[in-house]
Amino acid sequence: MLGLMQDYPLLAHTILDHGALNHGEREMVTRSVEGPIRRTTLADVRRRSLRVARALELEGVKLGDRIATMAWNTERHLEVWFGIMGNGAIYHTLNPRLFAEQLDYIVNHAEDEIMFVDLTFVPIVEALQSKFGTVRKYILLTDSEHMPETNLPNAVAYEDWIDSADDDFIWKSFDENTAAGLCYTSGTTGNPKGVLYSHRSNVLHGLMVNQPDVFGLKSEDVILAIVPMFHANAWALSFAAPAAGAKMVMPGAGMDGKSIYELLETEKVNCTAAVPTVWLGLLQYLEETGQKLPYLEKVVIGGAAVPPMMIRKFELDYGVEVIHGWGMTEMSPLGTTGKMKNATSHLDQEARLKLKEKQGRTPYGVEMKVVDDDGNDLPRDGKSAGHLLVKGPCVSSGYFRLDEQTLSDGGWFDTGDIANIDPLGFMQITDRDKDVIKSGGEWISSIDVENAAVGCPGVTEAAVIGLSHPKWTERPLLIVVRDAGSDLEADAVLAYLDGKIAKWWIPDDVVFVDEIPHTATGKIQKMSLREQFKDFEFSK
Ligand code: ADP
Repeated sequence: MLGLMQDYPLLAHTILDHGALNHGEREMVTRSVEGPIRRTTLADVRRRSLRVARALELEGVKLGDRIATMAWNTERHLEVWFGIMGNGAIYHTLNPRLFAEQLDYIVNHAEDEIMFVDLTFVPIVEALQSKFGTVRKYILLTDSEHMPETNLPNAVAYEDWIDSADDDFIWKSFDENTAAGLCYTSGTTGNPKGVLYSHRSNVLHGLMVNQPDVFGLKSEDVILAIVPMFHANAWALSFAAPAAGAKMVMPGAGMDGKSIYELLETEKVNCTAAVPTVWLGLLQYLEETGQKLPYLEKVVIGGAAVPPMMIRKFELDYGVEVIHGWGMTEMSPLGTTGKMKNATSHLDQEARLKLKEKQGRTPYGVEMKVVDDDGNDLPRDGKSAGHLLVKGPCVSSGYFRLDEQTLSDGGWFDTGDIANIDPLGFMQITDRDKDVIKSGGEWISSIDVENAAVGCPGVTEAAVIGLSHPKWTERPLLIVVRDAGSDLEADAVLAYLDGKIAKWWIPDDVVFVDEIPHTATGKIQKMSLREQFKDFEFSK
C-alpha cells in the first residue's frame, strides 16, 4: 500500500522560492570581480534568477541543455545557477585551474551551448574558444561599463542581457530526478569524468548539510562561502544557505588572507568553509597583524586532510570550532564531518583535538563501510584499514556519457580512499588507494607522516611517496618545501619525526624541492612526484 502524501518534486529552485519568500530581506554580499563590495538581497537574487531563466528561454535553451559557468563565487553566479536550473537546463561548472587540454575535453564532452564567464577568466576562454565547437554565445558576468574588448563570439555583458528579459517567468516543473548540475572530477589518470547532480540530490544534500552535526546553518547565521562553486558544488552552500535564510557572503576573486579577513570582520561572519590552503593564508595574515576573530564561531575545513597545527590554532588561539569534513565530487560532495558527539563529551581537550584530526562521521543520508582487497567487510575498530565504500541518495551512480559500471554489488561506490572507522563512527583516511605505501606487507599512512612532517619548524609543505625497495617492497621518501630562508636539513626533519610516528614509518630519506606540484583542485600530484623521483636511490 502506498502512502497518501503529496508527490511534491524536490526541485532545487524551490529552495530559492522558500528563501526569497521567508527571508527575502536577507542580505547577500559580494566582493565583486570589478572591485567594490556589492549588496543585494535573497529576494533580488530570485528576481534576477527568473530573468536569467527567461533570457535563456529566449536564447532557445531547452530541458537538459548544458550551460557552462567559469566564475568565482558571486551573487551573479548564484543567480545564473538558479536561472539555469529553473529553466530545466544544467549548470556546468568549469574549474579555471584545469589545464587547457582538460577544459577543451570537458566543454566538448558536455557540449555546452552557452558560457558565462567572469572577467578574470576571459583570457583563458579567449585562448580556447576556437576549440569550443558547441558554445554559441558568451555572457560576461559584468555590466556594459566594465565590458572588455573581446573576440568571443556573440559576447554580451550579463547586466545588458538580463535587462532584456522580464522577471515574470514561471519556473518549469519536471521530474525531481532531472539533471541539474554537472561537475567534472579532475581524475589523476585518464580524462576527467562528469558527475551529474539531479534536482533531488541537490535538495536532499542541501538539507543533509543543514543538520546540526554537519554545517547546521540557521537563519541568524552569516556564512562566508569560500569553497568555490566551480569545485564540488560549493559543498552545498548554494542550497543550504537560502534554505536556512542565512546571510551569504561571497568572496569573488579575493582568496588571500587579508581579503578573507576583511569580509569576516566587516560582515560579522560566524561560519565559513574552505580547503586548508585558504586557511593557511588567513592564519598567516592573523599572525602577521595580530588580529583576532571575534565573530567567527565555526570553520568547516575539508578537501584535504586538515593539518593538526591548523586545528589547534583555530581552536586554541582564536576560539573557533573546527569541523573537519571529508567528501568528493561524486558525493555532492559531503560524506562526513567530525563534530564531537555525546559519547565524546568525557574527553579532555587534548583527546578532542586529536579526534578532530579524523575525517568524521556520516550524517543521515550517507552510508559507509571499509572492506579488504577481497571485498569483505572490515570491523569498525578504528584500526582495520581498507577501501572506503559509500552509498546514498546524493552519491553518483555513474558518469555522464561514460558507459562504465561504477558501483559494486549492493550499490556501493568505491571512493578510492583507504580508511578505518572507529567504534563511535569516526572515519579516518590514511591514504588514496593509488598512493598507498606498502612496506614489508603493511601499509604506511602517508597522511599521518605528512601531518607529522608539516609540524616540523621550517617545513612549509611535505609529501610522502613510496619508492621500490629490494627488501621491503616499498619505503617512504619525504619530499619537503622549506620555509623561505630556512636552512633545515634532512637529519633535523627525521629527528623531529622520531617518536611522533611509528618507527618503521619514518622515511628512509628526505629531499628538498622548491615546489610540490598540485592538481587543479589543490591536491598534491603524487603521480608526478613518483615520476620525478623514480630513479632516486635510498642511501641505506
Ligand atoms: P578531485 O580533486 O579528484 O577533483 P575531489 O575534490 O572530489 O576530487 O576530491 C575528493 C578526494 O579528496 C577524496 O576522495 C579524498 O581523497 C580527498 N579528501 C577530501 N577531503 C579530505 C579530508 N578531509 N582528508 C583527507 N582527504 C580528503
